[in-house]
Amino acid sequence: MVNGTWVEVDLDAIRANARALKELVGTRVQLAAVVKANAYGHGMLQVAEALSSPRWVDWFAVASLTEAIQLRNHGITIPVLILGEISPEDAPLIVQHQLAVTVSRPEVVQALAAKTRPSDDPIRLHVKVDTGMGRYGVEYEKALDFIRWVRKFPGLMMEGLWTHLSSADDNERLTRAQLTLYAKLVVQCEQNRIFIPLKHVANSMGLMAYPAARYDLVRAGLSLYGICPKEKFKAPVRLTPALSWKARVALVKSVSAGQPISYGATYRTKKLTRIATLPVGYAHGFPWHSSNRGRVMIRGKMAPVVGRITMDHVMVDVTRIPGVRPGDVAALIGSEGKAVLTAHAQARAAGTIPYEIVSRISHSVPRQYNSRASAGAPVKSFRMIK
Ligand SMILES: *Cc1c(COP(=O)(O)O)cnc(C)c1O
Repeated sequence: MVNGTWVEVDLDAIRANARALKELVGTRVQLAAVVKANAYGHGMLQVAEALSSPRWVDWFAVASLTEAIQLRNHGITIPVLILGEISPEDAPLIVQHQLAVTVSRPEVVQALAAKTRPSDDPIRLHVKVDTGMGRYGVEYEKALDFIRWVRKFPGLMMEGLWTHLSSADDNERLTRAQLTLYAKLVVQCEQNRIFIPLKHVANSMGLMAYPAARYDLVRAGLSLYGICPKEKFKAPVRLTPALSWKARVALVKSVSAGQPISYGATYRTKKLTRIATLPVGYAHGFPWHSSNRGRVMIRGKMAPVVGRITMDHVMVDVTRIPGVRPGDVAALIGSEGKAVLTAHAQARAAGTIPYEIVSRISHSVPRQYNSRASAGAPVKSFRMIK
């Protein structure tokens, strides 16, 4: 069957990005590949598999227990850290699947402790502290006491202490304040002879823009997929975008001047116009807010979206692109020679961020996996951990 819209993922680009990030942070810093949200739309299981053997990363990080179990059921044996909170009821699944788990609630710690048996490997806990994100995490003032308390349970190993930066891409003052708070807590721990093997703070922008944020492990999401979170930032590594989003032109027709296009008639042709219709719409993840604002690329040229994006279709103006015909492949995200249409550009048109553009590409859009260029071999000297 001929697909109307599909996503192409270059797994070698992801491997190359993993390698570049690993080289940037150095072999003493572990790299966690953040593969939540279906690996930001790239396909969690395929990405995890591509990074697993040989092993390109030290960890996978996911948002939820569901995702972690999906990885395990797929045969992924690399350490997996759940970044979100779990429920106390889910403690048995953490043990069963040997997952590392983020904790900021005493009830969860107690439930986990109750599930361990002396014969089991200890459960790896990563205590999260809130230094200014205001989401998960132990309140900062209570963190040291919480850490002391957690360490009392046999069967639990406090492997990690982490926090999350709220503004690494756009507010240096806030970021420095968070880093200072975190550093203070680490010092307090050490003064109490508490040495935590994996202290971690940095997301993509944190690891690129704040070397001091790297600590023992970095959590790379968007950068792993080849997108710099901040469009104008000069990344210290070469990032190769891994995802292209394509759609096939279904129909091209000439529309006379003054004709309305799409729901609400928000667009009217000003002159004789060539309109191409593509079978991709907001149900696939092309944001409705890109109506009359977004673009697609056909034959290396930009074709503006005209009228409202509909659930399954979009109309674009191809008057200035000669020869467009049904069957032509358009890119919503991708490159063709020197021409590129980035996730950032689509995000700008929709008034959103590239994270949302790629992670909301619907599961219903088929993914095709290419391994074109070779990314070489992984960095050898991984500090392997069990
Ligand atoms: C999603 C996420 C990341 C990755 O962020 P990027 O900006 O995509 O690198 C890191 N840490 C936590 C806690 C996250 O939720």
